[in-house]
Amino acid sequence: MDEEGWFSVTPEDIASRHAERSGGGTVIDCFSGVGGNAIQFAKMCFHVVAIDIDPKKIGFASNNAKIYGVEDYIDFIIGDFFQLAPFLKADVVFLAPPWGGPTYNTFENFTLDLLKPKDGYSIFQVAQRITPNIIMFLPRNVDLRQVEELSWLSSPPLNIEIEENYIGSYLKGITAYFGNTASRLPTLS
Ligand code: ADP
Repeated sequence: MDEEGWFSVTPEDIASRHAERSGGGTVIDCFSGVGGNAIQFAKMCFHVVAIDIDPKKIGFASNNAKIYGVEDYIDFIIGDFFQLAPFLKADVVFLAPPWGGPTYNTFENFTLDLLKPKDGYSIFQVAQRITPNIIMFLPRNVDLRQVEELSWLSSPPLNIEIEENYIGSYLKGITAYFGNTASRLPTLS
């Protein structure tokens, strides 16, 4: 890992939970970083497409996949998710977009426009053209009302389920499950 990888990789227990909940098939990890999530999807024998714009990150991810013995399950792509998206097909899209580094924790209410490299609504809309089955890993202080709003970008609104992810007693992040990965209907009106 590089230095950034240590604070940005999804903790292993949470990544493994995402994989269990995904339902499998072909899963695209759109901002793969050093591969923490891609590896857990691959460990469940899903076909994974891991994308990152930074060739160094893909190098680390590929090496990490070899350490875990799952490299045969992952296609690594160096590229910009937004440019690649129109050419992609998948059963599930996994989004852990950059939270903007460790400063995310300083916001009382982390609004979706703070996500990088584009705001959360734009990222979600691009993902939705691939599949409505989207899993999004977000900061623990994310604006939950805005997250629920994402389900209303589609007509009819997507199923949505929100999960809090703890490491011990520390709330690390929030996962939003949409479409078939969610188990209930949206609640906003
Ligand atoms: P943070 O620590 O702020 O959450 P991350 O390091 O987790 O950020 O960012 C996730 C990954 O997203 C990084 O490895 C970065 O190279 C990658 N990335 C950024 N922009 C794009 C893009 N347009 N397409 C694909 N990957 C991207």
